[in-house]
Amino acid sequence: MATRLADLPKALLHDHLDGGLRVNTVLELAADIGYEDLPVTDPAALSDWFHQGGSGSLENYLEAFSHTIAVTQTAPSLERVAYEAVVDLAADGVRYAELRFAPTLHTAAGLEPTEVVAAVAAGIRAGEADTGCVARLIVDAMRQMNDSEDVAKLAVASRRLGVVGFDLAGPEAGYPNGNFRAACHHAGDGNLAVSVHAGEGDGTSQIWQALHRCNAKRIGHGVRIIEDTTVVDGVITGLGSLAAYMRDLRVPLEVSVSSNLHTGVFPTPAAHPVGLLHRAGFAITINTDNRLMSGTSMTEEFELLRRHHQFDLEDFHLVTRSAIEAGFGEWPERRRLIAEIDGHYRALGSSR
Ligand SMILES: [Zn+2]
Repeated sequence: MATRLADLPKALLHDHLDGGLRVNTVLELAADIGYEDLPVTDPAALSDWFHQGGSGSLENYLEAFSHTIAVTQTAPSLERVAYEAVVDLAADGVRYAELRFAPTLHTAAGLEPTEVVAAVAAGIRAGEADTGCVARLIVDAMRQMNDSEDVAKLAVASRRLGVVGFDLAGPEAGYPNGNFRAACHHAGDGNLAVSVHAGEGDGTSQIWQALHRCNAKRIGHGVRIIEDTTVVDGVITGLGSLAAYMRDLRVPLEVSVSSNLHTGVFPTPAAHPVGLLHRAGFAITINTDNRLMSGTSMTEEFELLRRHHQFDLEDFHLVTRSAIEAGFGEWPERRRLIAEIDGHYRALGSSR
């Protein structure tokens, strides 16, 4: 494939606002508020620290977020990082993005959760206006906190600001998704779509609970669904009932290969099941998860897929279209984008 991956139009559904700050922005915001707990202050060294220091397990990975969260406790800082996220994604070829964040992590300096959402929404709108990338928001409840029902209410009440979904994030082990059924049902009762992190740090039971206790429409990661399949000679030859449900009902998986490598879910890019699942007909979407902590971009994720899973132009076309189809944003806007990306990929030679 002669096409530069950087030039391909892309779409993503799973990118954490507090996991995607520019290193220089972290340093500038820290200086603004006199935050002195960064491990290093040289930009290159801090970049390395974020990429390497916060890896090894999901819990360590999550710890790296304490710094990005500490420097985003004011409305201007939240607006800035949201704006920069859209600008950076657009520069990476992203035409449709759903950014997610947990508002109650940004209230330590006195902001109300509604003010947090409003600041992020303002940054998103400014980013959209400057780039043409369509960006929407998902509000996260953190499983280790005790506020999931309040966060779900906030999410439902924030729809007019561009909030299109509610998500459960944070550590999986010890936090069964079924425990958050009330919050997810509140979102659903408010006609807000639900996506749940599941099958990342913990096994298929979490995916089952996300689908059938939380009524999730999409699964964040979900790649451990491979444990409910039979693989022979590099091909999925059998599906358990949960895997069959996901494949046959086209439940979108928000796959993030680099993130899974950093948290130790799979040891190498080649060992990641994304290619197996894609070829077996699962609804795969490709995502960055945390661009800063994983040192990644959509172009980097596409490169991993090309190099280790033999993705070609038609595969990239399919996963991009799948992401926009699985989006929670307004259908007319997404339909327009599907026509646009179909035209772009077909002009490059895709026959899909
Ligand atoms: Zn995530």
